[in-house]
Amino acid sequence: MKILLLGAGGKVGTALAPRLSEAGHEVTAVGNGDDWDPAGHDAAVDFTRPDAVRGNVERCLDAGVAAVVGTTGLSADDLTALDSLAREHGVALFVAPNFAIGAVLMMQVSQEIARHMPECEIIELHHDRKVDAPSGTAARTADLIRAAGGNVHEPIHSVRLPGLVAHQEVIFGGPGQTLSVRHDSTDRESFMPGVVAAVRAVGDRPGLTVGLDRVLGLV
Ligand code: NAP
Repeated sequence: MKILLLGAGGKVGTALAPRLSEAGHEVTAVGNGDDWDPAGHDAAVDFTRPDAVRGNVERCLDAGVAAVVGTTGLSADDLTALDSLAREHGVALFVAPNFAIGAVLMMQVSQEIARHMPECEIIELHHDRKVDAPSGTAARTADLIRAAGGNVHEPIHSVRLPGLVAHQEVIFGGPGQTLSVRHDSTDRESFMPGVVAAVRAVGDRPGLTVGLDRVLGLV
């Protein structure tokens, strides 16, 4: 496939370009300020910034190009609007708040625990250059836990420090006991297989799909 990689100069983009090439894709690398045109690409992948992602994705969908989005910070309203746009143009849009398999399993396990131990708090920890808080993973985890009848105490705790990559702990508490589930991405390599799988799977089904669990057949 011909892949337009938006954010190619970033921390994820730099690691991702060679992985996409190794998977047999032809990659057009786009850095901040570069001129780019989605025309002629089979799909776009966006790992940019929360303030750039919606405009980027709109431009791709308008051109009839499917998009795989890892950039966090899209609101529920953004996703609704982008879903409509994708359907209007008959193209697929895939968004995952976290492309690491361990994080996907952490969210699934948290949802299951919440059915039995509903009271919980979420602590998410990221590197100090992450601009949005709470993280997309924490927001998604909270949505899943609430859907299972859990009670996520506010606020979600966001830690930003040098030395961190992407980490999250969910602590459940009940009478006389606690249960913690923790996931640590210690290297951005953790995201690469998930992105490559999502690009392979993005397909032609028009509209929005959220979550790597859908690509991996875990739901
Ligand atoms: P990063 O290192 O800041 O990289 C973002 C890159 O995008 C930078 O090179 C930036 O350039 C560039 N950029 C900004 N606006 C752009 C535009 N309009 N067009 C093209 N490039 C543009 O951040 P990162 O750590 O790679 O993360 C990128 C995003 O992915 C963040 O939102 C992060 O939270 C998210 N993320 C998601 C996952 C997941 O699994 N879903 C995993 C890791 C990260 P400048 O530096 O010049 O602004």
